[in-house]
Amino acid sequence: MNLIELQTRFNTHLKCIKHLQQVRWGKKPICPHCGKNNISVRGKRRKFKKKRVARIYKTPSYHCNSCNRDFTVLTGTIFEASKLPLPKWFAVIALMLNARKGISAMNIMRDLGITYKTAWFTAMKVRCAMLDQVQMLEGIVEMDEAYIGGKPRHRKPAAHLATIGYRDFSTDDWRKDRWKYTGKTYGRGRATDKVKVVGIVERGVDKGRVALKVQDSLTGIEMLRMLKQYVNMKNSTVMTDDFSSYNRFDKVIQHYTVNHSEKEYVKHLEGIKDSIHTNTIEGVWSIIKNGIRGQYHVLSKKYLPFYLAEAAYKYNRRGKSEKKAAFGETIENAITDKKCQVRYKPKGNIRKVVYGEKVRKKRPKKPKPKRKPTGGTPGKVPAKRNQQQWKDHIKYLNRTSTKKKRKKAHLPYGQRGYSKKSRN
Ligand SMILES: [Zn+2]
Repeated sequence: MNLIELQTRFNTHLKCIKHLQQVRWGKKPICPHCGKNNISVRGKRRKFKKKRVARIYKTPSYHCNSCNRDFTVLTGTIFEASKLPLPKWFAVIALMLNARKGISAMNIMRDLGITYKTAWFTAMKVRCAMLDQVQMLEGIVEMDEAYIGGKPRHRKPAAHLATIGYRDFSTDDWRKDRWKYTGKTYGRGRATDKVKVVGIVERGVDKGRVALKVQDSLTGIEMLRMLKQYVNMKNSTVMTDDFSSYNRFDKVIQHYTVNHSEKEYVKHLEGIKDSIHTNTIEGVWSIIKNGIRGQYHVLSKKYLPFYLAEAAYKYNRRGKSEKKAAFGETIENAITDKKCQVRYKPKGNIRKVVYGEKVRKKRPKKPKPKRKPTGGTPGKVPAKRNQQQWKDHIKYLNRTSTKKKRKKAHLPYGQRGYSKKSRN
């Protein structure tokens, strides 16, 4: 939807409402609470003096005679309880869909004359409407992983750096192993603490779809699990680079690799029509990474799955006809009933909402057994010794006494510099 068309079709609140009603119900409204159509129109006699209240009530509201509750077309949608006029909502959707590499909340703010907070909140809710259903990819499929976040620099360990690309210092015990964190100024990809994202894409000009996912670990088991979640295993071929975690695929599915570490990027094998490469998925990473670098600049690790979902949604509708239909489709998604869409902060786990994963509960850690007191053996941390043990220990020291060995034996502070007198 271009902006001129938007301005003629959806420039008033009522036009937007009519469109939403048409898409959601057709001719007769249905109660979103109980699903019945025993309904009467409500609020015709009321008069509202205040402007804001009047605008909210401009939305025709209904009463369900079956469950005795009120509703409008916005009930249970991402638009519910919003003071932002619907034309602006529609404009946000259009702007976001038109921006191939994403649009920042600051940009939306300037375009529409709303505050930054409103812009961010609205965009986040629209992203909820863009969550695609899990789709099975087919044919020739490329899989690759990417690492998202800023360059590793000399960083001070601090809680406020717990954004993308930085280690989460709020939870890590950085004091304990500080040497790990300071002075790490180089490294790329796997060598850094960046966020890992795995993507699978079908080949095909303007057709191939993509599935993206934030992964905590890149083990072979995790990769295979993701492959089975998104790819039709029966009639597909996977192409990857030479990362060792992909080796597991060999037994399960037809699998070809190119050896990136030896600068091999395209390979031709006899008997196979298509060339072997992972350049399609690299193109997807290019769009996402350029978007983060050029549009968003900084985004939180927590909400990254939503940004990736938006990127995938737009990538999957990049064909000419799909692009045209995308606006209508997004509006349709926005008014379907889903609990997670009512608030931009999905209730519960983000991974559960975006990827439909089961969330495993963390097991409580077992308390470590207390260290047993070791007797009088030197070289270990001593427990409390009785008098006889001390005598034996000092005898031992006396026998083998050198400076080094004295240091090795952990004597209590007061007894470190013992003299000949005290020995007896
Ligand atoms: Zn009802």
